[in-house]
Amino acid sequence: MSNNQFPPDDGSPLSSSGLKAGASRGHSVMAGWVLTRPGPLGSAQLDFQWHRDLPVPMPNSKEVLLKVRTCGVCHTDLHTLEGDLQAPPGPLIPGHQVVATVESISADNAWVPIPPGLEAGWAERLIANSGGGTAKGLWLRPGRRVGVPWLFGTCGTCQYCRSGDENLCEHPHFTGLSRNGGYAEYLVALAPFLVPIPERFNDDEAAPLLCAGIIGYRSLRLAGIGPGVAANLGLYGFGASAHLTMQLALAWGHAVYVFTRSQEHRRLALLLGARWAGAPEEMSPELLDAAITFAPVGAVIPLALRSLAKGGTLAVNAVHLDGVPAFGYDLLYGERSIRSVANATRKDAWEWMYWADISGTKPIVQQYDAKNLPMALTRLKHGDIRGSAVVRIASSSSDPSPKGLQ
Ligand SMILES: [Zn+2]
Ligand SMILES: [Zn+2]
Repeated sequence: MSNNQFPPDDGSPLSSSGLKAGASRGHSVMAGWVLTRPGPLGSAQLDFQWHRDLPVPMPNSKEVLLKVRTCGVCHTDLHTLEGDLQAPPGPLIPGHQVVATVESISADNAWVPIPPGLEAGWAERLIANSGGGTAKGLWLRPGRRVGVPWLFGTCGTCQYCRSGDENLCEHPHFTGLSRNGGYAEYLVALAPFLVPIPERFNDDEAAPLLCAGIIGYRSLRLAGIGPGVAANLGLYGFGASAHLTMQLALAWGHAVYVFTRSQEHRRLALLLGARWAGAPEEMSPELLDAAITFAPVGAVIPLALRSLAKGGTLAVNAVHLDGVPAFGYDLLYGERSIRSVANATRKDAWEWMYWADISGTKPIVQQYDAKNLPMALTRLKHGDIRGSAVVRIASSSSDPSPKGLQ
């Protein structure tokens, strides 16, 4: 693949994170997965291939070059591959739960500031447990481990960015969708959006914290769940995000009820401390003060509302939903609320990392070699992943050629 083919260096959103030959430290080519044409998984339409000769990206003055260790597999990757989410035209490297080390930095982006509004004590402890820093934030140095989340960057000037709701930014960039992501040996990222990773988590465990965990944390908070008065919480779907979200909810003292079709996921939920686990069609044995749906299936919304107490909140954690069926007003009446969850702020990311660290949250991961990413995606699509799938990228270039999805 030649440089002028990938990606278009034409001022499109990809160009500033584009791949150019001649990166620092002697690396000029890298291996990675490239999505050239979206389509249903397993169909001839989808073109998603492993390449060994991609140019290493060259960071601009605002970016940091990172060397990828692991990348967590997310349902959003499926939506990207299958074309449910609109990526800019041109080839794309997906992947947005990236555990990486700093390869090179410039003087302009040598540190990651603490997000505004974060409790000082939390920031201090998180930084101390994540390799150290100062009262200003994390200092970046070559070799330091950091996380790259879904939120690649925001405009910083729209009404949402100015009011602290940067997750709703009018002109956002997302890792692995509008910018190249972590299913390759290198990527570039914006220093202020990097996330500290507590040292307690190894590279495999850290990956699902970076989207599944962060968005699950925001869902919890939007559903009205926090440390404090014990509540009954319902989780509909029990994949990567729910299994992490539940562990924090339990640490906060809440009772968790899990609704999933998968027997294996019910077993895992009970093993991790759920009070009850059953099918989505079942009524909860106790009325729920709050519920979160994780499945990209709208049919689960009226099912969850049936078990929601008056005044309760249902948070819909889905970047894409297949539609919402009509349901009777009686399911909503009684001051029940439904709200969607869209992306997450840097404050969410840091708060989640703080809580995941001190609550003893233990990500359950299934590791895959980089060449086996298609297998991980297929299993994820069929609900066959226990906890979260994580792809190991480091040293993958020496692996034999894997089979692409085409
Ligand atoms: Zn904005
Ligand atoms: Zn994700």
